Amino acid sequence: MSAGGECLTMNSSNDYDVAVVGLGPVGGVLCNLLALQGLRVVAFDREPGVLQLPRGVGIDGEIMRVVQTIGLAEELEPRLKVFRGAQYLDVNGNVVATRPGITGPGPQGWPNRYNVHQPDFEEVVRSGLTDRPNVDLRLSHEVREVRSEEDAGIVVAENRQTGERFSVRSRYIVGCDGARSLVRRTAKLVLDDFGLNEPWLVVDFKINSRANLPDINTHYAHPEQPVIYVHVVRDLRRFEFKLRPDEDLDKATDSDVIWQRVSRWLKPDQAELVRAAVYTHRSLVARTWRVGRFIVAGDAAHQTPPFLGQGQCAGVRDAAALAWRLGAVIQQGASESLLDTYGDERGEHARFYIKTATTFGTVLTSPDRNTIEELNLRVGREGRGKPPRLGPGMFKMDAVGGRLAPQPRLASGELLDDVVGYRFGVIVNSEIRQQLSADFVDAIEKAGFTTVEASGGAAEWLRELDAQAVVVRPDRYYYGAFSDAATLEAELRSLASQLAPAAVLD
Ligand SMILES: Cc1cc2nc3c(=O)[nH]c(=O)nc-3n(C[C@H](O)[C@H](O)[C@H](O)COP(=O)(O)OP(=O)(O)OC[C@H]3O[C@@H](n4cnc5c(N)ncnc54)[C@H](O)[C@@H]3O)c2cc1C
Repeated sequence: MSAGGECLTMNSSNDYDVAVVGLGPVGGVLCNLLALQGLRVVAFDREPGVLQLPRGVGIDGEIMRVVQTIGLAEELEPRLKVFRGAQYLDVNGNVVATRPGITGPGPQGWPNRYNVHQPDFEEVVRSGLTDRPNVDLRLSHEVREVRSEEDAGIVVAENRQTGERFSVRSRYIVGCDGARSLVRRTAKLVLDDFGLNEPWLVVDFKINSRANLPDINTHYAHPEQPVIYVHVVRDLRRFEFKLRPDEDLDKATDSDVIWQRVSRWLKPDQAELVRAAVYTHRSLVARTWRVGRFIVAGDAAHQTPPFLGQGQCAGVRDAAALAWRLGAVIQQGASESLLDTYGDERGEHARFYIKTATTFGTVLTSPDRNTIEELNLRVGREGRGKPPRLGPGMFKMDAVGGRLAPQPRLASGELLDDVVGYRFGVIVNSEIRQQLSADFVDAIEKAGFTTVEASGGAAEWLRELDAQAVVVRPDRYYYGAFSDAATLEAELRSLASQLAPAAVLD
């Protein structure tokens, strides 16, 4: 028995590098990225399968790029629909503003916006974990307690089918356990609250051929009760209704109340009501994202109103930003302080989206064309505009450092990330490539860097940046841009010594 009273088997098969609590979209992506690096992972979810709730309906090209990295893009893409556009109507039904549909791949190498049914995303991501010898999946397991002991983190879980309780030991425990995160509460991580507190009713329908709904997403403005309609995927359609503060929230999900509410658009003979839920939209970000062995990601670290479709996207970015750091600390001997840059960078980035989404909520009550266009541009949703820089962290403060890098195709036709892998990419022009010695390229290769000579779209990219080389991190954010071989080499030596002190570079 352990100090906590649960059955604790102290053998090496119960020791993990990382324990992931919660296997929603964020936990699922994180486990894939950790497994890709060969880390020993255990993941718990209290549910036997993916949650069938009316939640995420949109992802962007950056997220597809992460899915590409874990080798599942081909499996996911047929289940998505490229974003067809949106319109914003005023209270009289006049179109105030529109967003164009997406016509082809954007800077990320994928269309910059897709519609998605979140359970599809989660199923595909989980499918990547089933045959991984280094991932222990514990579904139908509720995590009851997490604690930190001197030499390990302890996760106490209960098998919900047998009632058996047991513990595992892990170097780090990552809470991907959603808004009510046990890990966050145990670690006493404080959430900053930006004040939003709005109840919304969210309903998914399966329509039949008698339904006559808009072909594109539509925002129906109203001073008190705006409505959002989403053309999800296949025959799935979504309505989201802002509820009045005085409404009886328990009654809101009664089917007759829902049919009454939706009667302007749909009749019962035109659709099947699939699922409905009331959510209170909040705007929250954790002030600190790691304490000792405890780390949070996804909704455990931040919650946003869904008006920009960025909650899950932000969580997947967390996973992409965290996994390589855990790999560097656990496998390459990097300092634990690297893990703190994760929260510093991601916190500021998530805050930007949450504040923008909250402002976006105001155009649902009083739509204004300029504001809508400016907000869309600010987050670069169509691949235009300039998405935000990360908070200060592991990158050079030059013109590109901390910004999302594009993914061009090389002259061979390959997408850049397929060549780089989930590693640091050192993209150089031919002149610089000739100046880097084979020994140096070999040494940085061992420290986790892949050197690629720019060709095709990558050569064009360097020319546009007026750079000779760029270093892009495994999460596809720029480390920095360089204009000569000597500076690049010095920077790579310094970076490699931080990330992989074990791999000595002469
Ligand atoms: C109406 C609505 C629309 C949205 N639209 C979008 C959108 O278009 N685009 C977008 O990007 N995002 C959207 N989101 C947000 C998105 O759904 C969430 O951000 C996303 O689900 C967060 O993923 P997560 O993995 O962090 O947490 P969750 O999805 O909440 O997953 C947490 C997992 O942890 C498990 N768990 C929790 N506690 C325990 C425990 N103690 N033991 C074991 N398991 C546990 C749960 O079973 C669950 O599987 C929307 C949300 C809502 C409500």
